Amino acid sequence: MYRQKRFLLDEAELPRQWYNIQAEMPNKPLPPLHPGTKKPLRAEDLFPIFAEECARQELNQTDAFIDIPETVREKYCSYRSTPLVRAYELENALGTPAHIYFKNESVNPLGSHKVNSALAQCYYLKEEGMTNVTTETGAGQWGAALAYAARVFGLEAAVYQVKISMQQKPYRSMIMRTFGATVEGSPSMSTRAGKDLITKNPAYTGSLGSAISEAIELATTTPGCKYSLGSVLSHVTLHQTIIGLEAEKQMAMAGEYPDMVIACFGGGSNFGGIAFPFMRHNFTGEHTTEFIAAEPASCPKLTRGEFRYDFGDESGYTPLLPMYTLGHNFHPANIHAGGLRYHGAGVIVSQLLKDGLMRGMDIPQLEAFDAAMIFARTEGIIPAPESSHAIAATVREALRCKETGEEKVILFNLSGHGLIDMTAYDSYLSGDLQNYNVADEEIARYLQDVPTMP
Ligand SMILES: *Cc1c(COP(=O)(O)O)cnc(C)c1O
Repeated sequence: MYRQKRFLLDEAELPRQWYNIQAEMPNKPLPPLHPGTKKPLRAEDLFPIFAEECARQELNQTDAFIDIPETVREKYCSYRSTPLVRAYELENALGTPAHIYFKNESVNPLGSHKVNSALAQCYYLKEEGMTNVTTETGAGQWGAALAYAARVFGLEAAVYQVKISMQQKPYRSMIMRTFGATVEGSPSMSTRAGKDLITKNPAYTGSLGSAISEAIELATTTPGCKYSLGSVLSHVTLHQTIIGLEAEKQMAMAGEYPDMVIACFGGGSNFGGIAFPFMRHNFTGEHTTEFIAAEPASCPKLTRGEFRYDFGDESGYTPLLPMYTLGHNFHPANIHAGGLRYHGAGVIVSQLLKDGLMRGMDIPQLEAFDAAMIFARTEGIIPAPESSHAIAATVREALRCKETGEEKVILFNLSGHGLIDMTAYDSYLSGDLQNYNVADEEIARYLQDVPTMP
C-alpha cells in the first residue's frame, strides 16, 4: 500500500503573515533594559543599530499577525514550502508506535533555517535606504545566510567570523565570499575593538563576543550600514514562524496534530519558529501539545541556568535581557554544534519556560551523534550537529512511547543539514568525540558576573 511521506504546500497556500506570539502570551516578557540608563528599551533606542521595522517588531506586543512583505514572500517561494516528512523508516528502526514527522529546513541553497530571517532583515534594510549590512558569525551558518540575502537585495555584507572557527571550518567563509561578502577573522585590525584585543593578546583567536563588538562598531561608525542578528532576538524568531505556520497546514494534510513539538535550541529561533504557531492553540485550551527545546548538556541554560537580567554579549554592549542565562562570560566547551553554544535564551522563550508552557531537555554530545547516525541511515539525510540534538530528544520520546505503547504524534524541526560538518562525523566515527560535563560550581561562578538588579 502506498503511504504518503512528503507534504508540500502550493505557492498560494504559503502563509502571508508571521505569527507574533508576544501578543497572545498569558504573561508578556519583561522589557529589555537600556544598558546605560537601565530604563525599559524603546524601539527608537534600537534604530541606530537595527532596521527600524525589525526594532518595532522586536517590541511589538499587540499584533498577533504581521504581514510578510510581498517581495520577501516571493523570495520564500523560491525554496518554500519546505517538506513535512513522515519518518516511517526511523519509526521502524526504533520499533515505536509513535508517528514521527519532521519539517525539513535544510532544503534551501544555504542548508539551514537561518535564511528565513536573513531575507526579511536584508529586505527591510534595503527599503530603509541602507547600502551595507554587517554581522558576526561563529561556525558560519548565519554569515552564509546573510551573505546570500545581502546579495539578493543588493547590499554589501561584511561578516566578522570568530577567528578560530574560520581556521577550523574554512568552507563557510568560502561560501560567504562566493556570495560576495567580505569576511574578516575576528579579532581583526579593521576596528578599534579588534585592534585593542589584538594589542592585548596577539594570539587571541576570538569569540562571538569579540565578533559582535566589531560588527556593532562597524555599523555605528559607517553611514548606510546596519547590524543584523541571526538568533536570540524576538524579531528573528518572528520571521522563523513561517516554519510552524506551514507545518500546521501540512500536518492537517497528513490528518494529524502533534502531541509533541521538538527543536534544538541555541538562541531559540528555530524552536520558536516551529513551536509558537502550535502553542497558540494551547493558550486557547484547544490542544495540550508538549514543547521540548533540546540543548547541549555542555551549555544547559534552559535546564540549569537562572532567570536573570543579563547581557547578550561578552563585552556588555547589548541591552539587558530578562532571560535564562549561564552568565554572559560563560565559555561552553568546543562542541561541534557551534550554533548551540550561546549562554542565554531569548526573552520570549524564557518567559514561556518560567510559566511552565515548555521544557528544556539537555542532550550529551555523543547521544546527539548516535541519533544523527540512526537518522542518516534510515532517512538518508545527514543532519547538522545542532539538529541532531532535536533528533536525540525525539528518539528518547519515541522510545518512551515504545515502553508505554502510546501512539503519540511527534513533530521535530530539522534545522539544517550537516554536509559542511563532516569533520564532526569523522571524529565521531573515529571514536574521538567526547561528552563534556559542566559542574554546578562552574555555573555558579559565571552567574556571579551577571549584573544584580534593584
Ligand atoms: C544557528 C543554528 C541553530 C541554532 O539557532 P537557533 O536560533 O536556536 O535556532 C540550530 N540549527 C542550525 C542548523 C543552525 O544553523
